[in-house]
Amino acid sequence: MAMNLILLGLPGAGKGTQGDLIVKDYPVVHISTGDIFRANLAQNTELGEQARSYMDAGNLVPDEITSAMVADRLGQADVQEHGFMLDGYPRNEDQARFLDQYLQEHGTSVSATLYFEVSDDILRQRLLGRGRADDTPEIIDNRLAVNKAANLPLVDYYQAEGVLHTINGNGDLDGIYQSVKEILDALA
Ligand code: AMP
Repeated sequence: MAMNLILLGLPGAGKGTQGDLIVKDYPVVHISTGDIFRANLAQNTELGEQARSYMDAGNLVPDEITSAMVADRLGQADVQEHGFMLDGYPRNEDQARFLDQYLQEHGTSVSATLYFEVSDDILRQRLLGRGRADDTPEIIDNRLAVNKAANLPLVDYYQAEGVLHTINGNGDLDGIYQSVKEILDALA
């Protein structure tokens, strides 16, 4: 049966890098809600127009819009066949519940949630290393605090569901990916 994966972790935790490695080795479809929104903005679609003001302000797009978009994507044939790897969704408990209900209605479920846990010091170093204008130490600390508050309830949610796998994301990327593969290979 197709695997359904969720990636969780703070900015800088390595979700993007590990996600790129996962899709090379496993057939899952990579679904990044941020990427879908950005593509819609670029193409000036109606969805892009609905999302624009929220994204420009750095706020979450309302759940009705985001979850409808995710449901639409999950219903497509490639996901039905190969399963998914969600990146950037769910961002809050309502979205997590929506996803569970959607999957249940379609006779499937979350196979594993991979939570990349990285110390604050290393996250700060990695984010500072990107050298983006909005990556000053103060802004980084704020972004980490805001994201932590949003992330921890999801960690608890998937822990309670029995599908959470916490991965030590402090090391080098090959070592981290070995831990990921052990988890995914045990699911298959
Ligand atoms: P990201 O690239 O994941 O940081 O997403 C970029 C922007 O897209 C976010 O700042 C939000 O405005 C929007 N977005 C992405 N995923 C979600 C989500 N699950 N719920 C609400 N808004 C989202």
